[in-house]
Amino acid sequence: MQYPANLFRQFLVGFLFTSFAIGTSAQSTGYLTLSGKVINRETGEPVPFASISVVGRGIGTVSNVVGTFVLKVPATFVDDSLKVSSVGYQSITQRISAVKNPNPVIYLKTAAVTLDEVQVQARRKTAEDILREAVAAIPRNYDTTSLQLTAFFREDQAFGDQPVVSSEAILSIYKAAYNQSEIKDGMKLIKGRKREYDRAIHQLPPMINLNNGARNLLLYTDFVKLASYKRNLINERNYPYYDFTLSTLKGDRLLYVIDFKPGKRKRKAFGSGKLYIDAQTMAFVQIEYEATQAAVDAENNRDWLLKKVASAVHKLDLKFTGLKEVVKYSLPDGADAGDRWHVSHVERLYRFRITSKSRKLIDRPWTVTSSLRVTEVGPKGVPPFTEGNIAENPSPINNLIRNQNDPDFWENDSARQHVSADTVLGKNPVAGRADSVESRLLKSVSNPVGNRQNGFTRADTLRGKLTPFRSHYDVTFYDLAVKVDIDQRVISGTNRMRFRVLEPLDKLQIDLYENMPIHQIRHAGKPLRYTREFNAVFVEFPEMMKAGSEQEIEIEYAGKPQVPDLNVPMMGGFLWEKDRDGNPWVQVVCQGSGASLWWPNKDHLSDEPDSMRISVTVPDGLMNISNGRLRSKTALPGNWTRYEWYVSYPINNYNVTLNIGNYAHRREVYGPDSLTLDFYCMPYHQEKFRWVFDGVKPMLATLEKHYGPYPFPRDGFTLMESLYPMEHQSAVSFGKMPNDSAGPLTLVDTLRHMQLVWHEVAHEWWGNNVSCRDMADMWFHEAFATYSEGFYLDSAVPENGELGYIASLRAQVIGKEPVIGVRDVNHIHYEIGDMYSKGALVLYTFRHALNNDRLWAEMLKGIQQRFRLQTITTNDLIGYINEKTGTDYTWFFDQYLNYTTIPTLEVQLTEKGSSLEVKYRWKADVPNFRMPVAVTKKPDQFGRILPTTSWQTIVLPNMEIDDFEVDETRFYVNVEVEEPQSVSSRSDR
Ligand SMILES: [Zn+2]
Repeated sequence: MQYPANLFRQFLVGFLFTSFAIGTSAQSTGYLTLSGKVINRETGEPVPFASISVVGRGIGTVSNVVGTFVLKVPATFVDDSLKVSSVGYQSITQRISAVKNPNPVIYLKTAAVTLDEVQVQARRKTAEDILREAVAAIPRNYDTTSLQLTAFFREDQAFGDQPVVSSEAILSIYKAAYNQSEIKDGMKLIKGRKREYDRAIHQLPPMINLNNGARNLLLYTDFVKLASYKRNLINERNYPYYDFTLSTLKGDRLLYVIDFKPGKRKRKAFGSGKLYIDAQTMAFVQIEYEATQAAVDAENNRDWLLKKVASAVHKLDLKFTGLKEVVKYSLPDGADAGDRWHVSHVERLYRFRITSKSRKLIDRPWTVTSSLRVTEVGPKGVPPFTEGNIAENPSPINNLIRNQNDPDFWENDSARQHVSADTVLGKNPVAGRADSVESRLLKSVSNPVGNRQNGFTRADTLRGKLTPFRSHYDVTFYDLAVKVDIDQRVISGTNRMRFRVLEPLDKLQIDLYENMPIHQIRHAGKPLRYTREFNAVFVEFPEMMKAGSEQEIEIEYAGKPQVPDLNVPMMGGFLWEKDRDGNPWVQVVCQGSGASLWWPNKDHLSDEPDSMRISVTVPDGLMNISNGRLRSKTALPGNWTRYEWYVSYPINNYNVTLNIGNYAHRREVYGPDSLTLDFYCMPYHQEKFRWVFDGVKPMLATLEKHYGPYPFPRDGFTLMESLYPMEHQSAVSFGKMPNDSAGPLTLVDTLRHMQLVWHEVAHEWWGNNVSCRDMADMWFHEAFATYSEGFYLDSAVPENGELGYIASLRAQVIGKEPVIGVRDVNHIHYEIGDMYSKGALVLYTFRHALNNDRLWAEMLKGIQQRFRLQTITTNDLIGYINEKTGTDYTWFFDQYLNYTTIPTLEVQLTEKGSSLEVKYRWKADVPNFRMPVAVTKKPDQFGRILPTTSWQTIVLPNMEIDDFEVDETRFYVNVEVEEPQSVSSRSDR
């Protein structure tokens, strides 16, 4: 559960006091480092956010809250000029060569308040007049073409005065034209690094990410671009909520200064501060903004349920306590008349207070200071980013960059290093992974985003398509026997594949990764000819096989199977590790990549064998756990032991597994039919994991209540500690504990872990019993498994744990690709998170749209019965739902599964006397989208409406605009509210 990074998108702006821990930078060859301070000449106070730049070079920095700055200048610029300026001060310019002290103190004179003509004019105008003029001048003053900017981002999080994590990045920014606020700005990561400090000081779990992020700074602070935004101070509709005071200021340019604070009608006033407007051009130059207490309270009340659940899960209470922000706009260096302004600098501070009695933290402050400074401007007229755009990625920038302590990190990027103060490194570098290779940094953000964009290849088709070479036979039995040489990381063995011929054939396709050599393929004791193309193997028979006949081929092979690539989703392989005592520990995970990465088979999800034998020979002293029942354990010559397992049900190829290690075993029985429960873990974890195994019976009881009986009773149920979590049929692996140290588990560890166990075990129903026929339909495995986690949270978190959990998944939806993949190409190596988060939200939304929990519950069990031990498509699932509900819901699933956009409820609100007139309709990709949804029909009371894509109107008595709400907790929808007459129709000013 993650606190949303876009916590503040509904406030426009804010401002801040940073506390950059600027250290003295290492002097590097060829660079001059100025580490100085800017001071107010009259008062001796520091000048925060003063610009310090090399004239005409696009090189610059900004002083921090205590007036200090660090600027690296190439030594060749020593004859250039340094300009220091700040709003409200007279700027000064000085030759760099004349700056003798490497720690210069620069004094700025405050600007005089003038009594010139403009000021006299100003007296005849109100602040509102000035604001209207400035808004009207936006198209003239700001770029009306797109612009590329390069910026330096820096963020520091601190717990009290202790640093928690610091991040730095160089970003390339796509700034959409100022007159096109509907076009989102884009952002690419050029280079970045972070430093994480010891978590022990605050003990918060890693998933709690209280960062602010470059994305928020970029998208939600440029108030000029968002001028028409509903809550924007400069939007005329909000003027009635503020009190304005107008004055003028003469620095380098004459400025109007508008002080603003909430007025009498303060309900919709979210900030106070100062706006600076250039008197000559009427351009907005700067805003200093601080959230009001009302705004702070509103933020704390938003998503209260989500926050309550998160607080309960994490035993943690987080209170937002404040937001400050400064946004500056600049003209290009040496600008002429007619040049356009652009956003040049954003600083933001926000604060939380944390209380967690279990961690002995009472009301402790957490602060986040962030800064985005533009360092290069241009070119203009650039196209939006088509790839690598992290502005659309909800993942905080912290997750996209790596720990990096190399002092030369920025030095390699000579064009931009001048802005760096090397403060991530700090004075006490943490000994850690020196992950210093830039290519790895870039790789982490330019993950393959799926072959949908890149185009599919013949190899994808061979892997994913059901051609006659595959569809003309049906596998009935696999007899897999492998020997695992752990020292050499080699597996060798045979697979006997028994199959029924469905259509006459003399050639068929099986699959085995091309890095795994085949020694021989035999049929009726004779070797067969075969050819290989990518990972496909085409086997030829000397004569045509008759339809209906039973055949068997035996494939003998050996090789070094691939290891997983964690940078690519679902890129599986063999894990070769050691346990804490130094014993070998080996596991295979291959969902997505496919079983053919380690054994030859018909690697298509549509065909499961009716049963299977899995024999695994391992070095003496180790055990192998596979699926189904252990039938025998045989000592073999040469210090080898063979474990023979038997699966008596159909099984997905990717679920066939081996887990080799020094395992301890415990057996129990469950239920009236005495289902055997086999639990395996490392011997040193038997006590530590007791609670996990003790939780199995209630878990199975809950899952059986919702989905029907455990699907594989003959094979028993096995749950094991493993290297990686995976839903291996009747041999569920829960991976390593989040905290694999010898210490006790925290409550958070146990909750997260149990949630994972429930997820994997739910796959026994969703994925293993009812399985998808093509990878494109895998979403329902993950959607239902994630949905099932809600049952656990409901039992673990009092009051609406499930509701809060599912609603919290909204923040995780990526929305880049539809939930349904591309058929016939095994489409899987892309960011598949939406199958989980959006998938579960879709199920939850459907349940609430259906509004008949009894029928919903019947259908869940019904699907399990109707499609028991079968492979199905999404259409089979929808067909079943349509049949049982007697209603065609194809439009619902079509919208949510085949499009990245979700339906938007468009609402127009008008107060008429004491009633509220509500006009509403759906905006969706699917024509005739018509989902019922819940809205407040009385204050704080939801009732259902039945919107279609045409406008409808209801009148709600005794309701005001602010009482109206759409139930976005139970319905995964967007809401767009227009209040056409909300300001002008009110005469209560
Ligand atoms: Zn899963």
